[in-house]
Amino acid sequence: MFDVVTTGNVVSVRPGSGIISRCPECSRVIQKANCRVHGKVEGVRDMRIKAVLDDGTGSMSVMFPRELAETIYGKTLEEAEQLMFSDISKDAVYEDLRRFLTGRYLAVRGNSSNGEYGVSFVAESAWVPEDDIAVRVVELLRKLGPDEEDQGSEVSGGGISLA
Ligand SMILES: [Zn+2]
Repeated sequence: MFDVVTTGNVVSVRPGSGIISRCPECSRVIQKANCRVHGKVEGVRDMRIKAVLDDGTGSMSVMFPRELAETIYGKTLEEAEQLMFSDISKDAVYEDLRRFLTGRYLAVRGNSSNGEYGVSFVAESAWVPEDDIAVRVVELLRKLGPDEEDQGSEVSGGGISLA
């Protein structure tokens, strides 16, 4: 389906998200500077996010290309590279993305397709639906369940900073 708009919570950020290298010839994602078609190449850095979004009826895999990844992450590729270089963990950017995005409520617009692994969606635009934030925070708190009473103030603090 083309030009679909959907909203949902990010339930997870999939491995393979973050900074990647692409072959300069064919744009395939490469590992260790080796393209499976073009052999040894000088990789071109790119950033993408593959997130699982739950729209309330089910989950779908959403791919955010660089420009949108930068928007929803709030960091440019260059800033993410700084994080990568300043941390000994090679997964620093991925871990940061997971911390930052998991639980966030997003609206996306793009094209969806039904594949072997369920619905996958390629985002063409993405934004935070401002009107819904207050409602969603309340729902999120409710979902957190039994701990709510014990650490109510802490949890709501976290919820508000999410927005
Ligand atoms: Zn190639």
